[in-house]
Amino acid sequence: MPLSILCGPFQPALEDAFVEHLTRRPPGPGRCVTVVTASQKMAERLQRLVAVERGMAAFNLRFVTFHGFALDVLRAAGGEIPSVVNDDLFHEKLVEGLLVEEGAFPPERARALAGAHRASLRDLVEAGVDTASFRDHFGDMEIPGEAKLQRLLDLADRYRDRLAERGVATSADLARRAARCLEDRPGLLADSAEYVYYGFYDLNGAQADFFAAVAKAAPVTLFFPSVKDHPGWAFAERFLDLKLRVGGAAARRLPMGIPGPGREVVDRLFDPGSPGAAAAAVRVFSVSGARDEVWRVAKEILALRAAEPDLDWRRVGVVARTIEPYAAVFADVFSDHGIPLAISDGGPLIGHPAARLAVDLLRLADRPRVRDGLSDVVGSPSFSPTFLSAAESEDVLRYLRSAGPRSGRTIESLRDGPGDDIPDDLRPISAPAALRRFEGLFAAPAAARPWSAWSQWASRLFHDFIAPDQSLASIRDALEGILERLTRLDRVSTPVERRFFVDTFAAALDRERRPGRETTDGVRVMGAMDARGESFDTLFLVGLNEGVFPRAVREDPLLPDDARRLLRDPGGYWILPKTEGYDEEKLLFVALAGAARRRLWLSYSRSGPDGRTESPSLYLREFLRAAGRGFEDVERVPRAPLEKWNAVPPAGLTPLEAGLADVLEKRRPPVAWADFLRRGAKGLALDGDAAFHGGAGRPDRYLERARARGLSPSALETFAMCPFKFFMSKVLSLEDARPLFDGEAVDPRFLGKIRHEILFRVFGAFAGHERPEPDTVAARTRAEVARVFEGLGDAAGVYPRLWAALQKKTEGELVAFVRRDLARLAVEGFRPEKLEWTAPPATIDGVAWTGRLDRVDWNPRERLFRVVDYKNGLPAASLAKSVADGGSPQAPLYLEMLESAAPWGAGARAAGARLEGLAENETKELTAEAWAEVREAARDQRRRQLATLTAGRFSIRPGDERHCRYCDFARACRKAHAPSRERGDRDNRAARAAPPAEILL
Ligand code: SF4
Repeated sequence: MPLSILCGPFQPALEDAFVEHLTRRPPGPGRCVTVVTASQKMAERLQRLVAVERGMAAFNLRFVTFHGFALDVLRAAGGEIPSVVNDDLFHEKLVEGLLVEEGAFPPERARALAGAHRASLRDLVEAGVDTASFRDHFGDMEIPGEAKLQRLLDLADRYRDRLAERGVATSADLARRAARCLEDRPGLLADSAEYVYYGFYDLNGAQADFFAAVAKAAPVTLFFPSVKDHPGWAFAERFLDLKLRVGGAAARRLPMGIPGPGREVVDRLFDPGSPGAAAAAVRVFSVSGARDEVWRVAKEILALRAAEPDLDWRRVGVVARTIEPYAAVFADVFSDHGIPLAISDGGPLIGHPAARLAVDLLRLADRPRVRDGLSDVVGSPSFSPTFLSAAESEDVLRYLRSAGPRSGRTIESLRDGPGDDIPDDLRPISAPAALRRFEGLFAAPAAARPWSAWSQWASRLFHDFIAPDQSLASIRDALEGILERLTRLDRVSTPVERRFFVDTFAAALDRERRPGRETTDGVRVMGAMDARGESFDTLFLVGLNEGVFPRAVREDPLLPDDARRLLRDPGGYWILPKTEGYDEEKLLFVALAGAARRRLWLSYSRSGPDGRTESPSLYLREFLRAAGRGFEDVERVPRAPLEKWNAVPPAGLTPLEAGLADVLEKRRPPVAWADFLRRGAKGLALDGDAAFHGGAGRPDRYLERARARGLSPSALETFAMCPFKFFMSKVLSLEDARPLFDGEAVDPRFLGKIRHEILFRVFGAFAGHERPEPDTVAARTRAEVARVFEGLGDAAGVYPRLWAALQKKTEGELVAFVRRDLARLAVEGFRPEKLEWTAPPATIDGVAWTGRLDRVDWNPRERLFRVVDYKNGLPAASLAKSVADGGSPQAPLYLEMLESAAPWGAGARAAGARLEGLAENETKELTAEAWAEVREAARDQRRRQLATLTAGRFSIRPGDERHCRYCDFARACRKAHAPSRERGDRDNRAARAAPPAEILL
C-alpha cells in the first residue's frame, strides 16, 4: 500500500494540511477514517481542531492512540488479550528480584539500582534486541564493552522470560503482537478506508514495526512534524530518513509559514550563521523564582483581559519544560487573581496532608519517638473527626506537645504521672483517656506477609484515620490506587516485612502526582511534551533556565551511547543514543516558539527566592540572538514586593497587594475597600503607624488589662530583653508549647523551675526564723532534690541516666549555693523572710505595678530588706550598669514597690538587690549605694520603655544566646534577615536615646 508522508511544522502547516486532507476525503457514512496519535493529548488537540476551531462534522472519524490501536487489532484478530502492566513500580520490583538472583549485588544495592536497570532493559526490549539476534548480527565483530553489554542482554532475556511466566505484557509487546497479526491477516484493517497518523516524530522499535505493518496493509497518510535542513528539526528528520522512508516513501514538504510573533525568529533558530531579525512583538522578562514568574504571567493575562474583555481563556497557554515545579504555584497564584485554570498536574500527591497522614500512619509503629509520631497523626488537618472529636484531638495534642516520651517507649509510658507532692507548675499535664484508642496502631505485626495482606492492613488504617470528607475522595482513590499496584507485586515478589512494605508505599507515593483541574474554560498550563502540536493565541513560555530547558541529558552508564549507536547502525535496532535527546529538546523549543499566533512571552528566573543567582537557558540566548535582541531588552520584574507592586497598574493588583502597597507607601487606600482595611486593623487592635518596622500600634487591649490588674515587672523585663518577644507572648498571648524534654535536652526553663521549687522547700523550713547550721541546710537540700526529681521521675520523660545525671548536677549546684548563701547571710545579719511572695500592689510614677518576688531577705536589727531573684542566666555587665541602661528593670521596680508599700513599716530601708545565677553559683549585686546612684537613670529608662511599649513599637532585639536560644518565637522572628536585624538595632538604639516621655497607659 502507498504511504503518503506530509512534513511541516505543527503550526500552521501540519494542522492546515490535516484539515484540508479530511475536507478533500471526508469521513462519513460508509467511509471510516482512523486517526492514530502517539498520545491522548494529541488526540484531544485534533478533536478540538476539527470540531471546535474548524467546525467540521466528525461522523465516522475515529481517534485512537498507538496503544489503543494495537488493542483494537488484537481484539479484531480474536484470541486472548494479554494483561498489560506498564507500572514502573511493578517492573522495578521484578528487575530488583532478577538483580538479587544474579548475585552481583546485595539486596539494598539491587533495590537502589533497579530503576536504572529497568530503564536500560526497557530500551532493549522495545528495540527488540535479544541475545540470539545480537549474536546473529555481531557474532564475528569485536565490540568494545562487550561483556557489559552481554550481561545486560542476558538480563533482558531473563526479564522477558519472567514477564512471560507471569503472563504480563507491556505496550511494546502489544505493538509487536499486533504487527505480527497484520502481517498474517492484513484484512483486519478493512473496516477503515484510511489510516491517518498524526504528530509523532519518533517511535520505539516495537511501535515502528507496528506502523510499518499498518502501512503495508492499508492506505496510510502520515502527518509528520519536521522541516528539512532546519537544525531545530534534526531529531525528527533523522527518524524520517532512517526509519520511515526506508521503503522508498517520498515526503511532501509543506511550507513553513509560521503565523505569529515567532515568524521571523523560528526560521533562524539554531543556525548561528543566520542574521538576527527585528522581532519586536516578542517580550522577554526575568524574575526571582517560580512564584514571581507565575505572578507576572497572571498580571499580563489580567491586562490582556482588561484590554480585550472577550479574550477566550482557552486561547491563552502557559508552557514550561516540565510543569511539576510550577503546579502548586499556578493553583495558588491564579486563584488569587481569579483566573480559571486548566492544568493536568495538581502537584505532588505527598504534598497533600491526607497523603502525608497516610505515610505517618503506616510508619507510626516504627517511629523512634511515639510522641512525635502521634503528634503528626492527630495534628493532620485530614485526621478523621469520627475517630477523635475536635476537642479530644486538641486535648491529645496539648498533652503530646508538653509530654516527653522517651525513645523506644510504648504508648503506655505516656501515661505515667508525677508524684503527689509535685506542685502544679512543675506537673506535666495528665494524659487524656482518648490516647488509649491509638493502641491498635502499634499492634501491627512486623513479620513477612504478602503484599496483598499489607495492602489490606494499610487500607483499613486509611479508612479509620483519614477524614471521610468528600473533598478527600480523589486523594483516597489515589492512595487506594497505590495499594492496588502494591497488591500486584505478589506476582513478582515473595512476602515482605512491614517496614519494607511501608518503604515501598512511601517511594511510590513520592512519585505520584495529584490530578489537576481539567476545566474546559481556563488558561491552559502544560508541560512541553503535552504542548506538542498545540496552538495558542497567546503563549507564555516560562522557566527558560539553564539545566531546565533544555533539560540536562545524561548518558546511560549501563548502556552507553557508543553501544546504542552500534545497535542502531549497523545493528538496525531503533534505539536512541541518550545525548541525541538534546536534539529533541531543540525540536520542542522550535515547535513551541512557533505555536503562538498573536503574542509570545518568554521568561526566566535570574535568581531563586533565596537570592541565589540562576542562569538563563542557552535556548533563550539563542532566541534573543535570532530575534536580533539582547539581554538589555529583557524586562526585569523587581524582586522587592513593593517595587514589584508599584510596577503594575493599580487595577492589576489583588486587594491584598494594593492594600499592603498603600500602607507601606502611606497612601490612602481606595475607597472601595478602605473600610475593610480599617476594620481588619481594628480587629487586631493595630491602628497606628504600621509602616514603622515592628510597629504594631498601641496595644489597647493589653494596656486595658494592665490598668485593671497592674503591670508586672517581669513583663517589663521581657520587653527590655526583646520587644518583639514581649509582643508575641504578652500582647498576643501566644505560646509555643514545648516538651520538657525534646529527646536531647531538658528545657532549661523547666530546670529553673525545679531549682526554684527546691529552694522554696529548703528555705521555707526556716523562713522568718533563726538560720540553721549550713550542714543541716545542705542535708535538707539533698533530700529535697531527691524528692522532687524522684517525684517527677518518668513523668518528665527524660532518659533515666540523663535524669539521674541532672539530679546529681542540680544537687551539687544547690548545695554549693545554699552553703555560700548561708555564710553570707550569717555575716550580713540577714535571713530569708519572704519566699515566692506576691508583693503588695504599688503605684510608681502613675503606673500600677504588681508582681511576685522569688525571695526577700530581712535584717531585723538594721531594718534592711534586700530583693533576691533566682535566674537561669546573669547579665554580662554589672547589675548597676544593667539597671542604669534599662537592661534589668525588674529588680529596681521591686525595690521601689517595697519602698512604696513599706510592708515592714516606716524606717525600713532597701539594702539593694541580688540576682543569683544558681547554675553558675554566681551573684550580681546592686548595693544600696549603687541603687542610690542609678535609680534616676533606671527611672528614665523605664519611662522610655513604657513610652515605646504604649506606642506599640515592638522591634526584634537579637541578643546573646541567653535570650534567643530558648525563645519560643525564634521561628516567627526575622533576626536572620540582615536588613530586619539592622532595623531592629536602629529602632532599639533610637528608643533608648529618646528623651524620657510622659507615660500614658
Ligand atoms: S529570637 Fe531573639 S530577637 Fe527573635 S524574638 Fe526571640 S528574643 Fe527576640
